[in-house]
Amino acid sequence: MATKVMRYQIIKPIDCNWDLFGKVLRDIQYDTRQIMNRTIQYCWEWQGYSSDYKIAKGEYPKTRETFGYSDMRGYAYDKLKSIYQRLNTANLTTSITRAVQRWKTDTKDVIRGDKSIACFRADVPIDLHNKSMNIEKSDDGYIVALSLASNIYKKELDRNSGQFSVLINEGNKSNRDVLDRCIAGQYKISASQILREKNKWFLNLSYSFEISKPDKSRDNILGIDVGIVHPVYMAVYNSPARRSISGGEIDNFRKQVQKRIKELQLQGKQCGEGRIGHGIKTRVKPIEFAKDKVANFRNTINHKYSKAIVEFAIKNGCGIIQMEDLKGINTDNVFLKNWTYYDLQQKVKYKAELEGIEVKLIDPQYTSQRCCKCGYIHRDNRPEQAKFKCIDCGFEVNADYNASLNIATPDIDKIILEFLKCET
Ligand SMILES: [Zn+2]
Repeated sequence: MATKVMRYQIIKPIDCNWDLFGKVLRDIQYDTRQIMNRTIQYCWEWQGYSSDYKIAKGEYPKTRETFGYSDMRGYAYDKLKSIYQRLNTANLTTSITRAVQRWKTDTKDVIRGDKSIACFRADVPIDLHNKSMNIEKSDDGYIVALSLASNIYKKELDRNSGQFSVLINEGNKSNRDVLDRCIAGQYKISASQILREKNKWFLNLSYSFEISKPDKSRDNILGIDVGIVHPVYMAVYNSPARRSISGGEIDNFRKQVQKRIKELQLQGKQCGEGRIGHGIKTRVKPIEFAKDKVANFRNTINHKYSKAIVEFAIKNGCGIIQMEDLKGINTDNVFLKNWTYYDLQQKVKYKAELEGIEVKLIDPQYTSQRCCKCGYIHRDNRPEQAKFKCIDCGFEVNADYNASLNIATPDIDKIILEFLKCET
């Protein structure tokens, strides 16, 4: 379940004028502030009593035995409902719950002195229980019926109902979508709030919904190719889904580090033999500086890449991720060589397993020379680094994409072995 909040301006009340409605909101806001601050006060009194009790008797008192309630909410409710009689009782409960939750989160910090005791101000939001709202679509727009006033208050106001209907600003399409889905029951309305900002009243509507995860299937395999042109190229077997990550970020980083190494080397020359013994700063050797920088960067970027890979797998319902079983990338590029593909693999494995996705390592031989369309393997299929062109069937495609599709193929190891057997 996920909960989100969407804000709507209250344009006007439907069944009374602004004078009355504004007064009701201000009254209720005033009471809400008192209720929440009193609840916090009860909680701290209980906290103090409870600590003293522990010192005297060696154990904490039980709320049920002391008050007859299992927690502070019941106690506060009973004390406060007779004092603050204007509020709809469901909303009163919601405010008390919010204050008790605040107290619970704050307790440790307050006792340590890191935080002061919560104090709710005059602009405190008015709480609405999820049953205190009813949304309807009318010819004039979206109307929300808000249960705000108690029976006592309703009589005092000389009204038949404690419910107030208001027209809200429907806003853009996504604002309207939320309202429509709440009306249709696709979204569940949760405890919400009314608040005042710059002399306008707003409804912060909270709604919750099930997060639908696409089913992961072991028939959907994600293949990952790592290379020079694209550090990571992803493709899904039997699907047009693909994604690549460009190497711009790595290039920029390499240039930065090389520039800094040059600066350090120059500095070293100027210091001459005096480098040693002239404090920590002058003793940093350019190559050590580079090593640290590269290691940090690699860690950050591998986290980023592995996250992107696993997210792509989830999005495409892949139950398996296939990667090449490389110990290191075979390239002259020093930075890629230091990349430790192994580290990326470990990070992908870790994140994938949390999502119930299996990571399979495959033999990397021939995955870049094989045509993903007809299966023909030949070194001449790769005329250039970035290009793949099959000399048998003529299929032409981005070389990294071709390789990642081969890597995504089920039982690719066996398929390649079979092909090689027939060839010889
Ligand atoms: Zn081919």
